[in-house]
Amino acid sequence: MLILNWKMNPKSLTEANKLIFAYEKQIQDLKIKPRSILIAPPSLFLPVLVQKHPDFIFGGQNCSDQDQGALTGEISASMLKSAGAGFVILGHSERKKMGESLALINRKIIAALKNKIKVVLCFGEIVKPKNFQTAPSEWRRQAKILFNQLDQFKNLGRDLIVAFEPAWAISVNRQGSVSIEYLNLFIRWFRAETEKKIKHLPLIYGGSVDAKVVKLFQSAEIKGFLIGSKSLEPSEFGKISRAYYN
Ligand code: PEP
Repeated sequence: MLILNWKMNPKSLTEANKLIFAYEKQIQDLKIKPRSILIAPPSLFLPVLVQKHPDFIFGGQNCSDQDQGALTGEISASMLKSAGAGFVILGHSERKKMGESLALINRKIIAALKNKIKVVLCFGEIVKPKNFQTAPSEWRRQAKILFNQLDQFKNLGRDLIVAFEPAWAISVNRQGSVSIEYLNLFIRWFRAETEKKIKHLPLIYGGSVDAKVVKLFQSAEIKGFLIGSKSLEPSEFGKISRAYYN
């Protein structure tokens, strides 16, 4: 699967529609199962995009941890659902930089799952570790909080996707980003650490993904990619899709 995080883009609904028509042109010759590309636009655009482009699945970039209340500006998981969202990205590092704690993200995951919205959870460290062998202790600390009380949900393997997306690997050049060795270290750690409690969660990778990264990570046991900046450039999206689906 390819999941596209548009962040706070594009500027208007008209441009959002244009972007999707440009995607369709790029992938018209590829054999892609409908609804295997997931797009997270600004949530204001959701109802129109969901109606106009049924071949894609749309989702939110965030939701509240509460179902209702005096919470000005917040959008609940049930509101996302009623706007047609099939999933929500939670725990993105850009939101962590705005002050989201791991405990809050955990409550948001629970709120989304209770409302039957699939969660794409961004997971990873903020600061690049000097020695990669020290990373697992930080991952363990995060997992303990983020996966707290998730055992109440059956079928987590269907409803929770974990995107390994260290903040330091987002929107940087390839040299500064994650290597295949580091990705494999994470995958091995994740499987060993979480498999006892939470079984078979799909893993994907996010962080400066382009067509080269897709090829480079072909051998890794991941189910897809989370793509940020390159998803706003239709020709780059086309190259990524050809690398992934061919
Ligand atoms: C993201 O914002 O989730 C992301 C992966 O961004 P980029 O592809 O630009 O690194």
